Amino acid sequence: MPTNVTDPIGDIKNEFRDYLDPTKAANLNPGDVTTLPNAGFDAAAVAAGGDATKVGTWDGFYDPNADKIYVRAGAEDRGLTNTHEYMHKVSNDSVGNKLGSGLDEAMTEHFSNQIATNHNQPPGNSLYNQDGRVKVVEAIETAVGRDTVAKAYFGNGDAPVTNLTQAVDAKFGAGTMQRVQNLCNKTDAAGNPDPDFAGARALLRPPAPAAPAAPAAPAAPAAPAAGP
Ligand SMILES: [Zn+2]
Repeated sequence: MPTNVTDPIGDIKNEFRDYLDPTKAANLNPGDVTTLPNAGFDAAAVAAGGDATKVGTWDGFYDPNADKIYVRAGAEDRGLTNTHEYMHKVSNDSVGNKLGSGLDEAMTEHFSNQIATNHNQPPGNSLYNQDGRVKVVEAIETAVGRDTVAKAYFGNGDAPVTNLTQAVDAKFGAGTMQRVQNLCNKTDAAGNPDPDFAGARALLRPPAPAAPAAPAAPAAPAAPAAGP
């Protein structure tokens, strides 16, 4: 039976216990979250550095400077908005710094989706589940394994992120992860995000299986021995 995520901290600690940094996990606290009606939420988002023309589409955000999470009242989405924002609090800053925010959000939503699945819930109603970015992470995970992705996301520092990049490149060719990032972080001429997640996903398809070898031509009958 589907149940809402009423204890996202407990769920995150349980699901990702093999990967979480113990210090960061211990700092997760229900008091981190402030849920505000629209006007207050938008004001908090702008105060935290959000673009006033864009914050109206946000359901929640984590402000790492204040170490606070804000959620828009009515946009809790079965507890998945809180779950997503707590993920930001326990995740590795190097993911965003090295891979860019497109993939950072994709991984955050990807791991939040696992909490939804544990509650027999469909994935969150977020843009990230619709714009193709989560599919990029799913393709990466299929290729290199959950362990490598989770260690990058929940680990500390650049090393596990570099390991992830190397694992992707080993599978799909040198420079693949950089090309994936470039497509996920693409901007238009005005500098606004214009990502190409489908293009990034296309770089992560397994190589086509080798064409079956042509059947060997039947051996030519031996030429009759030349007569004497
Ligand atoms: Zn996010």
